[in-house]
Amino acid sequence: MISRKVVLHFPSELVDQPIISNTVRRYNLEFNILKASIAPPEGGLLVLELLGGKKDVQEALDYLKELNIEMENLSRDITRKDDLCVHCGVCVAICPSDALVSNQATSEVEFVADKCVACELCVKACPYAAMEVRL
Ligand code: SF4
Ligand code: SF4
Repeated sequence: MISRKVVLHFPSELVDQPIISNTVRRYNLEFNILKASIAPPEGGLLVLELLGGKKDVQEALDYLKELNIEMENLSRDITRKDDLCVHCGVCVAICPSDALVSNQATSEVEFVADKCVACELCVKACPYAAMEVRL
């Protein structure tokens, strides 16, 4: 059995469809939902762990891609270069796991590494290149 953690971005027309339950049944998988966020006009975001046979997991991911669901792997560590961060807050709103939070008392953005699910959304969004993937 293997485990794959992915971030899935659902287009708005698919958020009310039973896609995950159908997928895990079709490919005989187990799953854990690590984070779910649904905002109907924009779509939905799901951080998901899929467990099952290697071929089944890969076919399930291929199936989800065919449904026009965008996907990122969660396989790498994320770090912040604190000297580059200007605490602008851009990353706070997009972090799906509350790993980037505004501290009202200090007006700074804190990175809580053990909450990070390595979706890499902040890496793309940070205008100062402060968030990076550790290879
Ligand atoms: S977007 Fe970048 S610079 Fe802004 S708070 Fe987040 S890590 Fe810091
Ligand atoms: S990679 Fe960035 S946006 Fe994704 S969970 Fe970690 S801190 Fe949040």
